[in-house]
Amino acid sequence: MRYFSTRDNTRHVSGAEAIVRGQAPDGGLYVPESFPAISGEELAKLVPLSYADLAFCVTKLYLPEFADEEIYEFTKQSYGDNFSSPEIAPLRSLNEDTSVLELWHGPTCAFKDMALQYLPRLLAGSLKKTGETKEVCILAATSGDTGKAALEGFADVDGTRILVFYPRDGVSDIQKLQMISQTGGNVRVCSVNGNFDDTQTAVKAIFGDALLRDELERSGKFLSSANSINWGRLLPQIVYYLYAYTSLTRRGKIALGDKVNFCVPTGNFGNILAGYIAKEMGVPIGKLICASNSNKVLTDFLAKGVYDKRRELVLTASPSMDILISSNLERLLYFTGGRDGNLIKELMAKLNKSGKYEVDENIRAAIGGTFIGGYNDDERTKTTIKDTFREYGYLVDPHTAVGLGVLNDIRRDTELDGHTVAVSAASAYKFCETVLDAFGEDCPDDVPMRFERLSKLTGTLIPEPLAELADKAVRFTDTIEKDEVREYVWQYTR
Ligand SMILES: *Cc1c(COP(=O)(O)O)cnc(C)c1O
Repeated sequence: MRYFSTRDNTRHVSGAEAIVRGQAPDGGLYVPESFPAISGEELAKLVPLSYADLAFCVTKLYLPEFADEEIYEFTKQSYGDNFSSPEIAPLRSLNEDTSVLELWHGPTCAFKDMALQYLPRLLAGSLKKTGETKEVCILAATSGDTGKAALEGFADVDGTRILVFYPRDGVSDIQKLQMISQTGGNVRVCSVNGNFDDTQTAVKAIFGDALLRDELERSGKFLSSANSINWGRLLPQIVYYLYAYTSLTRRGKIALGDKVNFCVPTGNFGNILAGYIAKEMGVPIGKLICASNSNKVLTDFLAKGVYDKRRELVLTASPSMDILISSNLERLLYFTGGRDGNLIKELMAKLNKSGKYEVDENIRAAIGGTFIGGYNDDERTKTTIKDTFREYGYLVDPHTAVGLGVLNDIRRDTELDGHTVAVSAASAYKFCETVLDAFGEDCPDDVPMRFERLSKLTGTLIPEPLAELADKAVRFTDTIEKDEVREYVWQYTR
Protein backbone atom coordinates (compact mmCIF):
# COMPACT_ATOMS: atom_id res chain seq x y z
CA MET A 1 0.00 0.00 0.00
CA ARG A 2 1.48 3.30 -1.11
CA TYR A 3 0.65 6.67 0.44
CA PHE A 4 0.55 9.94 -1.48
CA SER A 5 0.43 13.55 -0.37
CA THR A 6 -2.88 15.24 -1.19
CA ARG A 7 -0.81 17.92 -2.93
CA ASP A 8 1.58 15.81 -4.99
CA ASN A 9 0.81 12.75 -7.13
CA THR A 10 4.40 12.10 -8.09
CA ARG A 11 6.01 10.88 -4.86
CA HIS A 12 4.85 8.19 -2.48
CA VAL A 13 5.85 6.75 0.90
CA SER A 14 4.99 3.63 2.92
CA GLY A 15 2.31 3.64 5.64
CA ALA A 16 5.03 3.49 8.30
CA GLU A 17 6.72 6.54 6.84
CA ALA A 18 3.43 8.44 6.57
CA ILE A 19 2.87 7.83 10.29
CA VAL A 20 6.42 8.78 11.22
CA ARG A 21 6.30 12.06 9.25
CA GLY A 22 2.76 13.05 10.26
CA GLN A 23 2.42 15.57 7.44
CA ALA A 24 3.92 15.61 3.93
CA PRO A 25 6.80 18.06 3.40
CA ASP A 26 4.75 19.92 0.74
CA GLY A 27 2.13 20.76 3.41
CA GLY A 28 -0.30 18.10 2.13
CA LEU A 29 -1.75 15.19 4.08
CA TYR A 30 -0.90 11.55 3.46
CA VAL A 31 -3.62 9.35 1.93
CA PRO A 32 -3.66 5.65 0.97
CA GLU A 33 -3.61 4.97 -2.77
CA SER A 34 -6.84 2.96 -2.50
CA PHE A 35 -9.45 1.74 -0.01
CA PRO A 36 -9.23 -2.03 0.60
CA ALA A 37 -12.69 -3.48 -0.07
CA ILE A 38 -14.67 -5.39 2.54
CA SER A 39 -17.21 -7.63 0.78
CA GLY A 40 -20.58 -8.61 2.24
CA GLU A 41 -19.18 -12.04 3.01
CA GLU A 42 -16.17 -10.61 4.81
CA LEU A 43 -18.38 -8.22 6.73
CA ALA A 44 -20.43 -11.18 8.01
CA LYS A 45 -17.23 -12.72 9.39
CA LEU A 46 -16.40 -9.53 11.28
CA VAL A 47 -19.73 -9.42 13.14
CA PRO A 48 -18.74 -11.54 16.17
CA LEU A 49 -15.31 -9.95 16.66
CA SER A 50 -14.22 -8.03 19.76
CA TYR A 51 -13.13 -4.42 19.33
CA ALA A 52 -9.42 -5.31 19.50
CA ASP A 53 -9.77 -8.10 16.94
CA LEU A 54 -11.73 -5.85 14.61
CA ALA A 55 -9.04 -3.18 14.98
CA PHE A 56 -6.49 -5.81 14.00
CA CYS A 57 -8.43 -6.84 10.86
CA VAL A 58 -9.02 -3.28 9.69
CA THR A 59 -5.67 -1.70 10.38
CA LYS A 60 -3.55 -4.48 8.91
CA LEU A 61 -5.25 -3.90 5.54
CA TYR A 62 -3.58 -0.51 5.42
CA LEU A 63 -0.19 -1.51 6.82
CA PRO A 64 0.95 -4.57 4.91
CA GLU A 65 4.60 -3.97 5.83
CA PHE A 66 3.82 -4.92 9.44
CA ALA A 67 3.73 -8.57 10.51
CA ASP A 68 0.36 -9.85 11.74
CA GLU A 69 1.89 -10.50 15.17
CA GLU A 70 3.00 -6.88 15.49
CA ILE A 71 -0.40 -5.40 14.69
CA TYR A 72 -2.03 -8.02 16.88
CA GLU A 73 0.14 -7.01 19.85
CA PHE A 74 -0.55 -3.30 19.28
CA THR A 75 -4.31 -3.72 19.10
CA LYS A 76 -4.46 -6.04 22.12
CA GLN A 77 -2.52 -3.50 24.20
CA SER A 78 -4.41 -0.49 22.87
CA TYR A 79 -7.95 -1.74 23.48
CA GLY A 80 -7.93 -3.56 26.81
CA ASP A 81 -8.42 -2.60 30.44
CA ASN A 82 -7.16 0.92 29.75
CA PHE A 83 -10.83 1.42 28.76
CA SER A 84 -13.50 1.44 31.45
CA SER A 85 -15.96 -0.52 29.29
CA PRO A 86 -15.11 -4.08 28.20
CA GLU A 87 -16.86 -3.32 24.91
CA ILE A 88 -14.45 -0.35 24.40
CA ALA A 89 -17.07 1.49 22.30
CA PRO A 90 -20.48 0.51 23.70
CA LEU A 91 -23.65 1.30 21.81
CA ARG A 92 -26.70 2.63 23.68
CA SER A 93 -30.09 2.46 22.11
CA LEU A 94 -32.27 5.58 22.46
CA ASN A 95 -35.21 4.43 20.34
CA GLU A 96 -35.97 2.15 17.38
CA ASP A 97 -34.23 4.50 14.91
CA THR A 98 -31.42 5.93 16.99
CA SER A 99 -28.41 4.62 18.88
CA VAL A 100 -25.51 6.42 20.50
CA LEU A 101 -21.95 5.18 20.06
CA GLU A 102 -20.04 6.04 23.25
CA LEU A 103 -16.43 6.75 22.37
CA TRP A 104 -15.39 8.20 25.72
CA HIS A 105 -14.53 5.21 27.89
CA GLY A 106 -10.79 5.69 27.43
CA PRO A 107 -8.37 7.25 29.94
CA THR A 108 -9.15 10.88 29.02
CA CYS A 109 -12.93 10.54 28.52
CA ALA A 110 -13.05 11.71 24.88
CA PHE A 111 -13.06 9.93 21.53
CA LYS A 112 -9.46 10.98 20.88
CA ASP A 113 -8.38 8.03 23.04
CA MET A 114 -9.70 5.64 20.38
CA ALA A 115 -6.77 6.67 18.19
CA LEU A 116 -4.27 8.02 20.69
CA GLN A 117 -4.05 4.84 22.74
CA TYR A 118 -2.98 3.13 19.51
CA LEU A 119 -0.86 5.80 17.79
CA PRO A 120 2.17 5.67 20.14
CA ARG A 121 2.48 1.93 19.48
CA LEU A 122 2.01 2.36 15.75
CA LEU A 123 4.57 5.13 15.76
CA ALA A 124 7.13 3.10 17.71
CA GLY A 125 6.66 0.23 15.25
CA SER A 126 6.89 2.61 12.29
CA LEU A 127 10.12 4.15 13.59
CA LYS A 128 11.67 0.69 13.64
CA LYS A 129 10.40 -0.09 10.11
CA THR A 130 11.79 3.10 8.67
CA GLY A 131 15.11 2.77 10.49
CA GLU A 132 14.61 6.15 12.13
CA THR A 133 16.82 6.43 15.20
CA LYS A 134 16.40 10.12 16.00
CA GLU A 135 14.24 11.14 18.92
CA VAL A 136 10.72 12.00 17.80
CA CYS A 137 9.16 15.22 19.10
CA ILE A 138 5.40 15.12 18.88
CA LEU A 139 3.72 18.47 18.41
CA ALA A 140 -0.01 18.85 18.92
CA ALA A 141 -2.39 21.77 18.71
CA THR A 142 -5.56 21.04 20.62
CA SER A 143 -9.07 22.39 20.84
CA GLY A 144 -9.24 20.60 24.19
CA ASP A 145 -9.42 16.83 23.91
CA THR A 146 -6.58 15.87 21.55
CA GLY A 147 -4.00 17.43 23.85
CA LYS A 148 -4.83 15.37 26.90
CA ALA A 149 -5.31 12.17 24.92
CA ALA A 150 -1.96 12.65 23.17
CA LEU A 151 -0.19 13.43 26.47
CA GLU A 152 -1.67 10.35 28.07
CA GLY A 153 -0.73 8.20 25.07
CA PHE A 154 2.87 9.40 24.83
CA ALA A 155 3.76 10.06 28.49
CA ASP A 156 7.05 8.30 29.30
CA VAL A 157 7.15 6.46 25.95
CA ASP A 158 10.84 5.84 25.19
CA GLY A 159 12.39 7.83 22.37
CA THR A 160 9.60 10.41 22.30
CA ARG A 161 8.84 13.86 23.62
CA ILE A 162 5.52 15.60 23.39
CA LEU A 163 4.67 19.27 23.31
CA VAL A 164 1.02 20.38 23.40
CA PHE A 165 -0.34 23.86 22.62
CA TYR A 166 -3.88 24.88 23.52
CA PRO A 167 -5.78 28.17 23.00
CA ARG A 168 -5.73 30.00 26.34
CA ASP A 169 -9.41 30.83 26.50
CA GLY A 170 -10.67 28.13 24.17
CA VAL A 171 -10.95 25.00 26.31
CA SER A 172 -13.16 23.97 29.23
CA ASP A 173 -11.85 24.22 32.83
CA ILE A 174 -11.71 20.45 33.13
CA GLN A 175 -9.94 20.02 29.80
CA LYS A 176 -7.35 22.57 30.93
CA LEU A 177 -6.91 20.95 34.33
CA GLN A 178 -6.43 17.56 32.68
CA MET A 179 -3.60 18.92 30.54
CA ILE A 180 -1.72 21.14 32.98
CA SER A 181 -1.56 18.36 35.56
CA GLN A 182 -0.16 15.77 33.14
CA THR A 183 2.60 13.62 34.61
CA GLY A 184 5.58 12.21 32.71
CA GLY A 185 9.18 13.22 32.13
CA ASN A 186 8.83 13.80 28.37
CA VAL A 187 5.76 16.05 28.31
CA ARG A 188 5.21 19.80 28.13
CA VAL A 189 2.03 21.88 27.84
CA CYS A 190 1.72 25.54 26.91
CA SER A 191 -1.21 27.85 26.20
CA VAL A 192 -1.29 30.29 23.30
CA ASN A 193 -2.83 33.73 23.37
CA GLY A 194 -5.29 33.16 20.53
CA ASN A 195 -7.96 30.76 19.32
CA PHE A 196 -7.64 27.21 18.03
CA ASP A 197 -7.11 28.26 14.42
CA ASP A 198 -4.22 30.52 15.47
CA THR A 199 -2.75 27.66 17.47
CA GLN A 200 -3.18 25.03 14.76
CA THR A 201 -1.83 27.36 12.07
CA ALA A 202 1.28 28.12 14.13
CA VAL A 203 1.91 24.42 14.72
CA LYS A 204 1.27 23.46 11.08
CA ALA A 205 3.71 26.18 9.99
CA ILE A 206 6.42 24.51 12.06
CA PHE A 207 6.05 21.31 10.04
CA GLY A 208 6.69 23.36 6.91
CA ASP A 209 9.71 25.11 8.46
CA ALA A 210 12.71 23.56 6.68
CA LEU A 211 15.22 25.58 8.67
CA LEU A 212 13.90 24.40 12.02
CA ARG A 213 13.72 20.86 10.68
CA ASP A 214 17.39 20.97 9.70
CA GLU A 215 18.42 22.48 13.02
CA LEU A 216 16.57 19.77 14.91
CA GLU A 217 17.95 17.07 12.69
CA ARG A 218 21.47 18.15 13.58
CA SER A 219 20.66 17.68 17.25
CA GLY A 220 19.26 14.19 16.62
CA LYS A 221 15.55 15.09 16.71
CA PHE A 222 12.66 15.26 14.33
CA LEU A 223 9.06 16.40 14.51
CA SER A 224 5.86 14.46 14.08
CA SER A 225 2.20 15.16 14.68
CA ALA A 226 -0.47 13.73 16.97
CA ASN A 227 -3.24 15.74 15.28
CA SER A 228 -5.69 14.14 12.89
CA ILE A 229 -3.52 15.35 10.03
CA ASN A 230 -1.50 12.20 10.89
CA TRP A 231 -2.76 9.09 9.07
CA GLY A 232 -2.02 7.16 12.25
CA ARG A 233 -4.85 9.09 13.91
CA LEU A 234 -7.41 8.46 11.17
CA LEU A 235 -6.74 4.79 10.61
CA PRO A 236 -7.78 3.62 14.12
CA GLN A 237 -10.95 5.72 13.84
CA ILE A 238 -12.24 3.70 10.87
CA VAL A 239 -12.61 0.76 13.25
CA TYR A 240 -15.42 2.13 15.39
CA TYR A 241 -17.67 2.76 12.40
CA LEU A 242 -17.40 -0.93 11.62
CA TYR A 243 -17.82 -1.82 15.28
CA ALA A 244 -21.03 0.21 15.50
CA TYR A 245 -22.29 -1.61 12.43
CA THR A 246 -21.44 -5.07 13.75
CA SER A 247 -22.90 -4.20 17.18
CA LEU A 248 -26.22 -3.21 15.59
CA THR A 249 -26.20 -6.48 13.65
CA ARG A 250 -25.44 -8.57 16.73
CA ARG A 251 -28.33 -6.95 18.58
CA GLY A 252 -30.74 -7.53 15.72
CA LYS A 253 -31.36 -3.80 15.31
CA ILE A 254 -30.45 -4.13 11.64
CA ALA A 255 -29.98 -6.99 9.17
CA LEU A 256 -26.55 -7.42 7.62
CA GLY A 257 -26.44 -5.22 4.52
CA ASP A 258 -28.97 -2.63 5.80
CA LYS A 259 -27.70 0.92 5.50
CA VAL A 260 -26.91 2.87 8.66
CA ASN A 261 -26.40 6.64 8.95
CA PHE A 262 -23.94 8.30 11.29
CA CYS A 263 -24.31 11.69 12.88
CA VAL A 264 -20.94 13.18 13.84
CA PRO A 265 -20.16 16.37 15.80
CA THR A 266 -17.42 17.81 13.63
CA GLY A 267 -14.49 20.20 13.97
CA ASN A 268 -11.32 19.24 12.14
CA PHE A 269 -13.28 16.71 10.02
CA GLY A 270 -11.16 13.78 11.25
CA ASN A 271 -13.87 11.74 12.94
CA ILE A 272 -16.39 11.98 10.14
CA LEU A 273 -13.75 11.38 7.45
CA ALA A 274 -13.00 7.99 9.02
CA GLY A 275 -16.72 7.23 8.51
CA TYR A 276 -16.43 8.19 4.86
CA ILE A 277 -13.46 5.85 4.45
CA ALA A 278 -15.43 3.01 6.10
CA LYS A 279 -18.21 3.64 3.60
CA GLU A 280 -15.77 3.62 0.68
CA MET A 281 -14.43 0.28 1.95
CA GLY A 282 -17.89 -1.18 1.56
CA VAL A 283 -19.48 -0.83 5.01
CA PRO A 284 -23.20 -0.23 4.35
CA ILE A 285 -23.36 3.41 5.39
CA GLY A 286 -26.09 5.70 4.08
CA LYS A 287 -25.66 9.34 5.06
CA LEU A 288 -22.99 11.00 7.13
CA ILE A 289 -24.42 13.94 9.02
CA CYS A 290 -21.84 16.64 9.62
CA ALA A 291 -22.97 18.56 12.71
CA SER A 292 -21.40 21.92 13.57
CA ASN A 293 -21.85 24.55 16.27
CA SER A 294 -22.10 28.27 15.45
CA ASN A 295 -18.73 28.05 13.69
CA LYS A 296 -20.69 26.62 10.77
CA VAL A 297 -18.14 26.91 7.99
CA LEU A 298 -18.77 23.26 7.04
CA THR A 299 -22.57 23.64 7.00
CA ASP A 300 -22.15 26.52 4.57
CA PHE A 301 -19.65 24.60 2.47
CA LEU A 302 -21.96 21.60 2.16
CA ALA A 303 -24.84 23.91 1.18
CA LYS A 304 -23.02 26.11 -1.33
CA GLY A 305 -19.79 24.41 -2.43
CA VAL A 306 -17.85 27.44 -1.20
CA TYR A 307 -15.46 27.13 1.71
CA ASP A 308 -15.13 30.55 3.26
CA LYS A 309 -13.24 30.92 6.52
CA ARG A 310 -13.44 34.72 6.49
CA ARG A 311 -15.49 35.12 9.65
CA GLU A 312 -14.88 35.52 13.38
CA LEU A 313 -14.30 32.33 15.27
CA VAL A 314 -16.74 32.32 18.17
CA LEU A 315 -16.17 30.53 21.46
CA THR A 316 -19.05 28.13 22.08
CA ALA A 317 -20.21 25.57 24.64
CA SER A 318 -18.71 22.86 22.42
CA PRO A 319 -15.09 24.09 22.36
CA SER A 320 -13.62 21.02 20.66
CA MET A 321 -15.52 22.09 17.53
CA ASP A 322 -14.50 25.77 17.58
CA ILE A 323 -12.59 25.51 14.33
CA LEU A 324 -12.76 27.37 11.03
CA ILE A 325 -10.01 25.54 9.17
CA SER A 326 -11.08 21.90 9.05
CA SER A 327 -7.82 20.24 8.05
CA ASN A 328 -9.16 16.87 7.00
CA LEU A 329 -11.60 18.31 4.48
CA GLU A 330 -8.50 18.47 2.27
CA ARG A 331 -8.48 14.66 2.18
CA LEU A 332 -12.15 14.48 1.23
CA LEU A 333 -11.59 16.93 -1.61
CA TYR A 334 -8.74 14.76 -2.83
CA PHE A 335 -10.85 11.58 -2.74
CA THR A 336 -13.85 13.18 -4.44
CA GLY A 337 -11.86 15.32 -6.89
CA GLY A 338 -10.30 12.46 -8.85
CA ARG A 339 -7.21 12.24 -6.58
CA ASP A 340 -5.70 15.23 -8.36
CA GLY A 341 -2.80 16.62 -6.30
CA ASN A 342 -2.48 19.75 -8.42
CA LEU A 343 -6.11 20.67 -7.90
CA ILE A 344 -5.78 20.34 -4.10
CA LYS A 345 -2.59 22.37 -4.10
CA GLU A 346 -4.43 25.10 -5.98
CA LEU A 347 -7.47 25.08 -3.63
CA MET A 348 -5.31 25.16 -0.50
CA ALA A 349 -3.23 28.02 -1.92
CA LYS A 350 -6.48 29.92 -2.47
CA LEU A 351 -7.61 29.23 1.10
CA ASN A 352 -4.29 30.44 2.39
CA LYS A 353 -4.25 33.59 0.26
CA SER A 354 -7.83 34.75 0.08
CA GLY A 355 -9.52 32.72 2.85
CA LYS A 356 -11.87 30.88 0.50
CA TYR A 357 -12.21 28.48 -2.40
CA GLU A 358 -15.00 27.00 -4.48
CA VAL A 359 -15.27 23.41 -5.68
CA ASP A 360 -16.70 22.30 -9.05
CA GLU A 361 -20.03 20.56 -9.66
CA ASN A 362 -18.50 17.06 -9.73
CA ILE A 363 -16.95 17.38 -6.29
CA ARG A 364 -20.11 18.97 -4.92
CA ALA A 365 -22.21 16.11 -6.25
CA ALA A 366 -19.80 13.46 -4.93
CA ILE A 367 -19.80 15.02 -1.46
CA GLY A 368 -23.54 15.76 -1.49
CA GLY A 369 -24.31 12.09 -2.19
CA THR A 370 -23.08 11.16 1.27
CA PHE A 371 -22.83 14.21 3.51
CA ILE A 372 -25.62 16.30 5.02
CA GLY A 373 -24.65 19.41 6.98
CA GLY A 374 -26.38 21.22 9.81
CA TYR A 375 -25.63 23.33 12.86
CA ASN A 376 -27.00 24.21 16.29
CA ASP A 377 -26.19 27.22 18.49
CA ASP A 378 -25.49 27.05 22.23
CA GLU A 379 -29.06 27.72 23.34
CA ARG A 380 -30.35 24.88 21.21
CA THR A 381 -27.52 22.63 22.41
CA LYS A 382 -28.48 23.15 26.05
CA THR A 383 -32.12 22.44 25.23
CA THR A 384 -31.04 19.19 23.57
CA ILE A 385 -29.05 18.17 26.67
CA LYS A 386 -32.11 18.76 28.84
CA ASP A 387 -34.59 17.15 26.45
CA THR A 388 -32.43 14.08 25.84
CA PHE A 389 -32.21 13.50 29.56
CA ARG A 390 -35.92 14.05 30.10
CA GLU A 391 -36.97 11.83 27.22
CA TYR A 392 -34.47 8.97 27.52
CA GLY A 393 -32.82 9.42 30.92
CA TYR A 394 -29.60 9.71 28.95
CA LEU A 395 -26.86 12.24 29.68
CA VAL A 396 -24.93 13.76 26.76
CA ASP A 397 -22.12 16.29 26.56
CA PRO A 398 -22.52 19.52 24.51
CA HIS A 399 -20.75 18.10 21.42
CA THR A 400 -22.94 15.02 21.28
CA ALA A 401 -25.93 17.30 21.86
CA VAL A 402 -24.99 19.37 18.80
CA GLY A 403 -25.13 16.14 16.82
CA LEU A 404 -28.46 15.00 18.26
CA GLY A 405 -30.01 18.44 17.71
CA VAL A 406 -28.92 18.51 14.08
CA LEU A 407 -30.21 14.96 13.63
CA ASN A 408 -33.61 16.06 14.92
CA ASP A 409 -33.61 19.01 12.51
CA ILE A 410 -32.81 16.76 9.57
CA ARG A 411 -35.50 14.24 10.51
CA ARG A 412 -38.00 17.09 10.79
CA ASP A 413 -37.11 18.60 7.42
CA THR A 414 -36.26 15.62 5.22
CA GLU A 415 -36.67 11.88 4.80
CA LEU A 416 -33.84 10.01 6.50
CA ASP A 417 -34.03 6.27 5.83
CA GLY A 418 -32.69 3.64 8.17
CA HIS A 419 -31.11 3.50 11.60
CA THR A 420 -28.88 6.37 12.68
CA VAL A 421 -25.95 6.18 15.06
CA ALA A 422 -25.14 9.42 16.85
CA VAL A 423 -21.46 9.49 17.66
CA SER A 424 -20.86 10.53 21.28
CA ALA A 425 -17.48 12.19 21.41
CA ALA A 426 -16.92 13.01 25.08
CA SER A 427 -18.12 12.46 28.63
CA ALA A 428 -20.54 15.12 29.88
CA TYR A 429 -18.34 15.47 32.97
CA LYS A 430 -15.68 17.25 30.90
CA PHE A 431 -18.16 20.08 30.34
CA CYS A 432 -19.90 20.49 33.70
CA GLU A 433 -20.35 24.28 33.30
CA THR A 434 -22.58 23.89 30.26
CA VAL A 435 -24.33 20.70 31.28
CA LEU A 436 -25.28 22.00 34.75
CA ASP A 437 -26.45 25.22 33.15
CA ALA A 438 -28.62 23.23 30.74
CA PHE A 439 -30.36 21.71 33.78
CA GLY A 440 -30.78 25.16 35.34
CA GLU A 441 -28.16 24.48 38.03
CA ASP A 442 -25.25 26.63 39.18
CA CYS A 443 -21.76 25.39 38.54
CA PRO A 444 -19.65 25.39 41.73
CA ASP A 445 -16.09 26.76 41.43
CA ASP A 446 -14.79 23.68 43.14
CA VAL A 447 -14.26 20.96 40.55
CA PRO A 448 -15.07 17.90 42.73
CA MET A 449 -18.27 19.64 43.82
CA ARG A 450 -19.25 20.11 40.16
CA PHE A 451 -18.82 16.41 39.53
CA GLU A 452 -20.84 15.57 42.64
CA ARG A 453 -23.67 17.87 41.62
CA LEU A 454 -23.91 16.44 38.11
CA SER A 455 -23.71 12.90 39.43
CA LYS A 456 -26.48 13.47 41.99
CA LEU A 457 -28.67 15.24 39.49
CA THR A 458 -28.44 12.60 36.78
CA GLY A 459 -27.71 9.39 38.71
CA THR A 460 -24.62 8.80 36.58
CA LEU A 461 -21.13 7.84 37.75
CA ILE A 462 -18.22 10.27 37.78
CA PRO A 463 -15.57 8.83 35.41
CA GLU A 464 -12.61 7.72 37.48
CA PRO A 465 -9.88 9.60 35.57
CA LEU A 466 -11.81 12.84 36.18
CA ALA A 467 -12.54 12.11 39.84
CA GLU A 468 -8.78 11.82 40.42
CA LEU A 469 -8.07 15.26 38.93
CA ALA A 470 -8.58 17.25 42.12
CA ASP A 471 -5.58 15.60 43.77
CA LYS A 472 -3.19 16.30 40.93
CA ALA A 473 -0.59 19.08 41.09
CA VAL A 474 -0.51 21.73 38.37
CA ARG A 475 2.77 21.40 36.45
CA PHE A 476 2.46 23.72 33.43
CA THR A 477 1.53 27.40 33.47
CA ASP A 478 3.30 28.93 30.44
CA THR A 479 1.36 31.22 28.09
CA ILE A 480 2.94 32.54 24.89
CA GLU A 481 1.97 34.62 21.85
CA LYS A 482 1.28 32.77 18.61
CA ASP A 483 4.43 34.14 17.00
CA GLU A 484 6.47 32.67 19.86
CA VAL A 485 5.46 29.07 19.16
CA ARG A 486 8.48 28.40 16.95
CA GLU A 487 10.94 29.65 19.55
CA TYR A 488 9.18 27.64 22.24
CA VAL A 489 9.41 24.46 20.18
CA TRP A 490 13.08 25.11 19.54
CA GLN A 491 13.73 25.69 23.22
CA TYR A 492 12.00 22.56 24.46
CA THR A 493 12.98 20.08 21.80
CA ARG A 494 16.70 20.68 21.85
C1 LIG B 1 -12.21 16.44 18.68
C2 LIG B 1 -13.63 16.54 19.05
C3 LIG B 1 -14.62 16.83 18.10
C4 LIG B 1 -14.28 17.12 16.66
O1 LIG B 1 -13.75 16.01 15.99
P1 LIG B 1 -12.99 16.24 14.62
O2 LIG B 1 -12.34 14.94 14.31
O3 LIG B 1 -12.00 17.31 14.87
O4 LIG B 1 -14.01 16.63 13.61
C5 LIG B 1 -15.93 16.86 18.53
N1 LIG B 1 -16.27 16.62 19.81
C6 LIG B 1 -15.34 16.33 20.74
C7 LIG B 1 -15.78 16.09 22.14
C8 LIG B 1 -13.99 16.27 20.40
O5 LIG B 1 -13.08 15.98 21.34
